[in-house]
Amino acid sequence: MATPIKIGIVGCAGRMGRMLIQEVLATKDAALAAGSEQPGAHIGEDMGTLVGAAPTNVRVVADAGAVFAASSVVIDFTAPAALPAHTKLAAATGKALIVGTTGLGDGHIAALKDAAKRTVIVQAANFSLGVNVLLSLTEKLAFTLGPEYDIEVLEMHHRHKVDAPSGTALALGASAARGRGKKLNEVWRKVRDGQVGARPAGEIGFATLRGGDVFGDHTVIFAGEGERVEVSHKASSRSNFARGAVRAAMWSKGKESGFYSMRDVLGL
Ligand code: NAD
Repeated sequence: MATPIKIGIVGCAGRMGRMLIQEVLATKDAALAAGSEQPGAHIGEDMGTLVGAAPTNVRVVADAGAVFAASSVVIDFTAPAALPAHTKLAAATGKALIVGTTGLGDGHIAALKDAAKRTVIVQAANFSLGVNVLLSLTEKLAFTLGPEYDIEVLEMHHRHKVDAPSGTALALGASAARGRGKKLNEVWRKVRDGQVGARPAGEIGFATLRGGDVFGDHTVIFAGEGERVEVSHKASSRSNFARGAVRAAMWSKGKESGFYSMRDVLGL
């Protein structure tokens, strides 16, 4: 039997953290090494019983440093404010870091790229296989259909989501922009309100819906004269994100230091 890969989870009691615990427990050749949470929440709890599974004898700690020390790869689905400390720990320890947290700014990405000089970083706004195929398809459609087709990205998420547009919507917009040889921040329109005037050619628009328990719906619309092409993805469970993140963690073993995306992991 291969030596199991020791996986740590920061933010392990969150919605995604719990899915990640279950996914690691179900993954062959993976071992649940450690997990952290914010002080007060679930500290000292067994990570197995936290998700209704058998006890693992691995307890939730408040010290992210201990998670990195015990793991060969750490998965972060927390919050933008928590990520910089985890990025520093990855760089200092050389442990791989898989980042699913969204709502990141340029500073977060720059710090991750800097850490990637010393270790493996995999960052993706969406770890599902379907969305990553959609990212590739969106780039191809934008290239093939050309500038006569107006591009709009529509997304819906549950009422607890704190960032908008979603990281996945922005990634789809970036793929569309890349297909047209543009940078997204040169052509995006994240919000429309009031007398905004006619739609400028080349703009990539976003529309954000929030409500209920929607895990994540995304549609990219290419609206031309006399026809419309729409490509959609609908997540019906969080487990697909967790499966992708754990797949990225397993993939990271033995890779050279670098900044990778889920498209690298999947070979798309
Ligand atoms: P959540 O609020 O349920 O979970 C976040 C957890 O992180 C909480 O338990 C919180 O206490 C913990 N946390 C915050 N700061 C921490 C710190 N300093 N140390 C340890 N733990 C800390 O949120 P969620 O729905 O699980 O989503 C988490 C993030 O993952 C969000 O940014 C979300 O957009 C993103 N997400 C990404 C994907 C993807 O595929 N990339 C999929 C789903 C969600």
